[in-house]
Amino acid sequence: MKVSIKEVSGVGKKYQEIFNSYNIFTSQDLILYFPKKYLSFKETSLLLAVDKTEVTVVGEVASLPIIIKHRNNLESLRFKLLVDNELYNIVAYRRGYLKESLKEGMEIQVRGQFKKRQKEINAINIILKPLKRELKPNYQIDGIYDSNISKIVYQIYQNKWFYIAENLPSDIIVKRGLLSRYEMVRILHFPSNKEALDKALYRLKYEEAFFFQEKIYQQFKSDNKVIKKARDYDLNIVKEFIERIPFELTDNQKAATNDLFKDFKAPHLKKRLIQGDVGSGKTIVVGIAIYGMKTAGFQSAFMAPTEILAFQHYQTFLKYFPDLEVALLTSSTKEKSKLKARINSGEIDLVVGTHALITDDTKFSNLGFVVIDEQHRFGVLARETLANKGEADLCYLTATPIPRTLGTVILGDMEISNIKEKPRDRKPIITYYLHQSKFDSVIEHLKKEINLNHNAYVVMPSIESETRGETVYTMYERLAAIFYDKVLLIHGKLPALEKEAVMATFKNNKGMILVSTTVVEVGVDVKEATMMIIYDGKYFGLSQLHQLRGRVGRSELQSYCYVLSDDSDLERLTIFKNTDDGFLLSEYDLEHRGPGEFLGLKQSGMIDFKYANLNDDFKLFLKAKEDVFSK
Ligand code: ADP
Ligand code: MG
Repeated sequence: MKVSIKEVSGVGKKYQEIFNSYNIFTSQDLILYFPKKYLSFKETSLLLAVDKTEVTVVGEVASLPIIIKHRNNLESLRFKLLVDNELYNIVAYRRGYLKESLKEGMEIQVRGQFKKRQKEINAINIILKPLKRELKPNYQIDGIYDSNISKIVYQIYQNKWFYIAENLPSDIIVKRGLLSRYEMVRILHFPSNKEALDKALYRLKYEEAFFFQEKIYQQFKSDNKVIKKARDYDLNIVKEFIERIPFELTDNQKAATNDLFKDFKAPHLKKRLIQGDVGSGKTIVVGIAIYGMKTAGFQSAFMAPTEILAFQHYQTFLKYFPDLEVALLTSSTKEKSKLKARINSGEIDLVVGTHALITDDTKFSNLGFVVIDEQHRFGVLARETLANKGEADLCYLTATPIPRTLGTVILGDMEISNIKEKPRDRKPIITYYLHQSKFDSVIEHLKKEINLNHNAYVVMPSIESETRGETVYTMYERLAAIFYDKVLLIHGKLPALEKEAVMATFKNNKGMILVSTTVVEVGVDVKEATMMIIYDGKYFGLSQLHQLRGRVGRSELQSYCYVLSDDSDLERLTIFKNTDDGFLLSEYDLEHRGPGEFLGLKQSGMIDFKYANLNDDFKLFLKAKEDVFSK
């Protein structure tokens, strides 16, 4: 069967080492190492070709070849070749032996140096039976030419030093019209034409999507197998607690809260997605559930996408939930080991934190509930790691609604609660869409709001890049010249402590302006903020713009959102101006930018597939999901 790679003829010490550095140790490994891409061997158009460059053409022999003798025993073969109805002279040194094989009217392929003025090709290579379209595998193994790899792979095929096992169920192969795995592998190494190669690549991607879905399915099955410890929460204490909340829950909030308690009662682990527009009040809903968990003797974890948000949630919980023992755990937490000991002992009821929370040495004594805020910011890995920290019911919160199909493909089947209405005392935000040249009129409005002691955000697309024009710094200076110490500056690259300090100043003082990058995008809650100015709308997706707009209008005060642009983005920004429905805006994003863009996966890079791509191959993922889940 398989042999060590060094046994294959053509593989010496040097090649062996190179192969090993690519984790290729045996003939089998090399067969399962697929080309990274394919170079298509294109014919050159001689009409467009540049003098003295290398060209490849296919043409018809148009004259009987003759041999010309030169000095030093050198001879050349000469004939005319008809390419695209033009005659060219072919000169081939040391190719006298081809004279007899070249017949008039025969189709051949010639590669060589082009002399444009003389209409001549100095041939390097003459192939008598041209393959019209050749696809060359490109293995991207540094130090070994692709043609040599192909020869080595060919050797392995000749000797049958490999074994390919089918890994997909046969009914699915039939149903989806897929190639067998054996065929696929052969074509990946030796593609005869584009059509066959496309079929092979399709099967390769399908396989990847299939096994990804298989993993989700296994997770789903094992969730359903575990009989979890009963969460015997005390409904009366929870009800009393709800009575004490200083506002009345909306009907949707009440329904979502009930859904969570229903999940707790279920015998198996549950996953739920709570979707609700910015400001719809998701935090209090999970807060009540966390409180319920405490009455049942379980700990909870709340994961936020940024330190700013973790800090803010932490403060919210301190304020609304005085009976909970809450801890903040982020990468800048001091004395982590002490805190972790308190988490491990069960002394802490709720841990609020960022990714740092999921490092392996954070152990809970009795984790029962995990909340993941703005889940689209996290990849599958992060989620699963935290979820596996105990027998925890899981709840994702998102302000960017996910179409059901997309959600189930990447997260598996889960139940969804929607919070559609906003708390009663909110006024709709008035949105303006202006050309950047009108910025002065925005500043006039800004002066009025600041005089009323309201707060304002000015969001810039970048920290320092020149190409995007104004930056947080230039805008900060421009505004500081008018508003002096009323202006604050924040961006993602500031140290965490400084960010916290700036946010605290902004939150605790009236009439302040915060110039920022998108760090304020999700969740930040400052009630007196009435103005959101987004300097350059074209750099943001509609969902993102909507998130930003949701930073204002968080009290009974009238709020405003200005989007400035250079008019290159008329349709999109007009839709934004006229629509306050986050669900609709995200549908638009999904349609125009695809799921990858929409989910922020490109940035997080956490759902990385080797061959398939969630964005381009979304339909294939849907098929794989259907196949796996209907087995
Ligand atoms: P999001 O869903 O965007 O995370 P939050 O949970 O941060 O929204 O809630 C936004 C604000 O609305 C918070 O200040 C919260 O206290 C307040 N809030 C939540 N529910 C209600 C309600 N039913 N009535 C009035 N205010 C509410
Ligand atoms: Mg929130």
